[in-house]
Amino acid sequence: MSADLEHVSCLCGFDNDEPLFTARDRMFGLDGDFPVARCRSCGLVRLAVRPAPATLPAYYPEDYYPYRSRPARPGPRERVVHGALWAARGYPWPRQAELPGPKAAWALLLAPLASRLRRFPRFVAGGRVLDLGCGDGAFLDYLHRCGWRTVGVDIVPAAVEAARAAGHEAYEGSIPGVELEPGSFDAASVWHTLEHVPRPDETLRALFRLLRPGGELRVGVPNVGGWLARRSGADWVHLDAPRHFFHFTPLTLRRFLLEAGFREIAITTYTQPQSIEWSRRLGGGLPCLRDVGPGGRLPPRIGGGAEVARLRWLPLATWLGLTGRGDLMYAVARR
Ligand SMILES: [Zn+2]
Repeated sequence: MSADLEHVSCLCGFDNDEPLFTARDRMFGLDGDFPVARCRSCGLVRLAVRPAPATLPAYYPEDYYPYRSRPARPGPRERVVHGALWAARGYPWPRQAELPGPKAAWALLLAPLASRLRRFPRFVAGGRVLDLGCGDGAFLDYLHRCGWRTVGVDIVPAAVEAARAAGHEAYEGSIPGVELEPGSFDAASVWHTLEHVPRPDETLRALFRLLRPGGELRVGVPNVGGWLARRSGADWVHLDAPRHFFHFTPLTLRRFLLEAGFREIAITTYTQPQSIEWSRRLGGGLPCLRDVGPGGRLPPRIGGGAEVARLRWLPLATWLGLTGRGDLMYAVARR
């Protein structure tokens, strides 16, 4: 094996693999073959061979999408978001939103939208929130304006710099790694990040220690047990090799959370219609997604702009979410 790659055993310690397929980088088309295996002992899916730490930065080109997410300025979308958070998660009435008319009407209208605001913690007045994998801090912007004290951690120096420039307390590194005070957070989110870290078990244990008793953790990851993942195999858009080291199912994610000490765990799956379209195109021979972006760059958001595809797959995506077979999932858990 080349020095640029490393073989990794399953986190459970057993060496009992079911080989699934060989994955390639379908986002940027970068070189490398990465065998994907499912552990017969614990069910965890992982890259059995992945880039060594020294090689890894080469697989995170500058246009990797999470670091270009900040909108120029708050728009109508943010007003709706604030309103929905007020209606469903205990946030203060959004002065910024300047919503006219009676509050009760807005509550009825906006509360259902909160189910889509999966990453937002329940409001704690004066609370401190940690976002691991914060990118440029665009998500923390929302929380900061709502009154949270915001802390971000990310492994990309430029992203951390951008988060600091936006007024957040931000650290370069990962968790465990960055020194933060145990029990000092009311809420934490780790959004599409847990699948990137070398030891998700250790990351969840460290997050548990950082939360105060009763503190809320929100985790978002792809669901390798979902319909689209099973159907698409090596063409599944959220495989994202070799950046995603691990893939969870609701069962394995729940077990990791339990083993880290979390309780009151609720897991929900959902599918974004464009994921179906992109997986279908990758399966149909599209070498990599960068090829469809303007000027060889990735679309601003995966699938952004493909409105026809979105409408076309919306019924199937909705059905998959309703039946618990979505290809993304999130967990809410409590320390
Ligand atoms: Zn295992």
